Amino acid sequence: MSDSIPVTERSPSTKISSFDTHNPPSRELLSDCVHCGFCLPACPTYVLWGEEMDSPRGRIYMIAKAAQGEAALDPSFRQHMDACLGCMACMTACPSGVQYNKLIEDTRPQIERHIPRSIGDSLFRKLLFFLFPHAARLRILAVPMLLYQRSGLQRLIRRNGLLKLLPKRFAAMEALLPRVPNSLFHRLPSRIAPTASSATVPQATRVGMLTGCVQQVFFQHVNEATARVLAAEGYDVVIPQDQACCGALMVHSGVEEQSLELARRMIAKFEAAEVDYIVINAAGCGSTMKEYGHLLRNDPEWAERAADFAAKCRDISEILLLKPARQRLNPLPLRVAYQDACHLKHAQGIHEQPRHLLHGIPGLDVAEIAEANLCCGSAGVYNLLHPEPAEQLGNRKVENLLAVQVQAIVSANPGCLLQLQAGLRRKGLNAIPAFHMVELMDASIRGLKPEELLHRRS
Ligand code: SF4
Ligand code: SF4
Repeated sequence: MSDSIPVTERSPSTKISSFDTHNPPSRELLSDCVHCGFCLPACPTYVLWGEEMDSPRGRIYMIAKAAQGEAALDPSFRQHMDACLGCMACMTACPSGVQYNKLIEDTRPQIERHIPRSIGDSLFRKLLFFLFPHAARLRILAVPMLLYQRSGLQRLIRRNGLLKLLPKRFAAMEALLPRVPNSLFHRLPSRIAPTASSATVPQATRVGMLTGCVQQVFFQHVNEATARVLAAEGYDVVIPQDQACCGALMVHSGVEEQSLELARRMIAKFEAAEVDYIVINAAGCGSTMKEYGHLLRNDPEWAERAADFAAKCRDISEILLLKPARQRLNPLPLRVAYQDACHLKHAQGIHEQPRHLLHGIPGLDVAEIAEANLCCGSAGVYNLLHPEPAEQLGNRKVENLLAVQVQAIVSANPGCLLQLQAGLRRKGLNAIPAFHMVELMDASIRGLKPEELLHRRS
């Protein structure tokens, strides 16, 4: 396709749209694209394959053609949309402010409704959505995983290359398995008051904490660190119990009804908690929760409540910069590389805040990496659905991280941490740990030594 292809004619087409009338991608938003191509080098699938139809401009062109009734919703259309990681790097790169997030997220449910998937693909997706949004099911699954890991069987199987015998998606699942923590059944209490030194602050800000689904099972240590840091900084931390999933994985996959139902449950849960802010430490969840207003815009009962909820959502790095820091940070002499989570940087526009916090830790040397804007290939469940490109992107990211010679890697999303750890393992570099940004804040506040921090993760 040449640069001059007319992505959208401004005059309305007389043909009937290929999309149905339930929330089709907005023609007005489509017409914002001026086909300049600035987004192409930012797009991981274009970087990998160099195909116009696997670039943001190409995808917008195809969506526009379908909206004009000039392209069918067929397997080829689905293939190019499925290949999109939803990393939103194109939005950061776009000088015209094209809201690609809304376009792709309104396109995906149309795909699910109109383009049937193969039985195998459909079953695999059902399996993912049966498991991942449900912390209780994940905990049950984690028990045999724990035995598999602690018995040494996992090491044996990985070493013997037996995983190559598995279908690629299942092999990818195994490769990404996090270490099952000893804290598998730990729960955070429903409230953590500001710690003593900060309790003198009148009227502490009341924040509700998202515990997440995958996060509360496999990254409970990150949730615990988040709660400790918030309490130390003088926040009154409310943790609504039995939270369900925020629906992010389903939103990113076009599973509309289920995702909206989860969004409604989340809103109701936090309304009951009566908090000033909702704090989130997983970038993918945060970007979706900030979009609840858009997702539920056509639901008369929920639209306003969803918009109010979304307006209260903050990433942990945003919350920690709302007020001057109260805690003295202790030195943490360590060289780390900070990897932007796409759903933090591109989808939420949060770039400076985590860096500002990390640079505030005495002795912490934060290295920047090449191709920082390029997705690591995690992208929700993308690395399970599309293991080959995800692995290529993961390897590329790990190369860039290793080039700056660090002792640890830091990010702000559980999916990225798993993807980077899997990439490091493929290179035989098990000794480089990956941390959430808030774990370093916590370690510094508590005065942990680097060896203690590194030892906890080895
Ligand atoms: S940078 Fe923006 S306007 Fe230009 S082609 Fe990409 S999406 Fe369209
Ligand atoms: S969201 Fe990411 S993968 Fe999808 S078109 Fe934009 S840059 Fe490319």
